[in-house]
Amino acid sequence: MHVTAIIAAAGSGSRLGAPIPKQLLDVGGRSILARSVAAFDTHPAISEVIVVTPALLMDSEAFASIGRTQHDVRLVAGGARRQDSVANAFDRVTEGADVVLIHDAARPFVSAETISRTIEAAARHGAAIAAIEVRDTIKRVDRDVVVETVPRESIFLAQTPQGFRRHVLAAAIAVGRSGVDATDEAALAERAGHAVHVVRGEPANVKITTEDDLAAARRHVTAATAGRVGTGYDLHRLVDGRRLVLAGVTIPSPRGALGHSDADVVCHAVTDAILGAATLGDIGRHFPDTDARWKGASSIALLRHAVALVAAERFEIANVDVTVILESPRIKDHIEPMRVGLAGALGIEPARVSIKGKTNEGVDAVGRGEAIAAHAVALLRDTR
Ligand code: MG
Repeated sequence: MHVTAIIAAAGSGSRLGAPIPKQLLDVGGRSILARSVAAFDTHPAISEVIVVTPALLMDSEAFASIGRTQHDVRLVAGGARRQDSVANAFDRVTEGADVVLIHDAARPFVSAETISRTIEAAARHGAAIAAIEVRDTIKRVDRDVVVETVPRESIFLAQTPQGFRRHVLAAAIAVGRSGVDATDEAALAERAGHAVHVVRGEPANVKITTEDDLAAARRHVTAATAGRVGTGYDLHRLVDGRRLVLAGVTIPSPRGALGHSDADVVCHAVTDAILGAATLGDIGRHFPDTDARWKGASSIALLRHAVALVAAERFEIANVDVTVILESPRIKDHIEPMRVGLAGALGIEPARVSIKGKTNEGVDAVGRGEAIAAHAVALLRDTR
């Protein structure tokens, strides 16, 4: 199924009173527009992304604001009204598109789940919008006096995305071009005689319209991106005749760690730390001893796979710190290649990877040289 996303960013955002268009304002290090585009650009069901911007911003500014994308994002100049802008974009939609989504650029926090629900319902029913139920009691008011309490069961607040089969949107746009004014495409589709289905939106999918909205959005992003921390711990017995592998590096030693794989305690602890920070479970869940796929795989390869799982959830690894507890041999001369190897698997620079060696002062099994242990802490950033 070919799904096109049109991001409507042609408004001037005059209610915010900022000197630059609202969609280019920064929220946590990225513009509102960049966040909205990324939500669709990274969604697996999206085939094509078109952004409608004010004609003034057509080239440099809007492109610079969007940043790097997976799709070849196309910019289209907007029109006088929102519906004119969407109509301009629709003219550029690939002929073979099955479903076209329209999303307000001012809603940067739309989730992948809401996008999926809208695509599914639009494909099935022809037209669908994300909407949320009303929690407050609704009053109809005339000159400061309540004239009616409206039953709220039948009231929904429309959000975006709004999704349409291509021919349904074509009919809606034709109604708009015939002179009908509407605040969204769903209203035009209704006028064209198509039933518009409602799918569950989300309260977090707010539209940034006022100064208060902008401040709340910035607080929301700060809380989400402040960091996600995870810890990992691992221990293996030391036995004669095994290689000692730490962070993928073989350390000269008469004894090595006993285990199913190469028993690399550094990789195992770090894998648990990053999975933990992303609340993705642990190493045993993703790489069970009983699974033939991982039999004989090096622990650094498992770590790379865990890094991909974490990245798929749109987490970035900020830094990792590891303590290795080993009575002998001393690992200090091997720490640099270990850091480089670990950083390579994590996809970050070695400057953000720390490894420290300790002994256990002769105490307990680790102190008697019967085992090796490692502790790891990882900090992830939520880029969603
Ligand atoms: Mg282990």
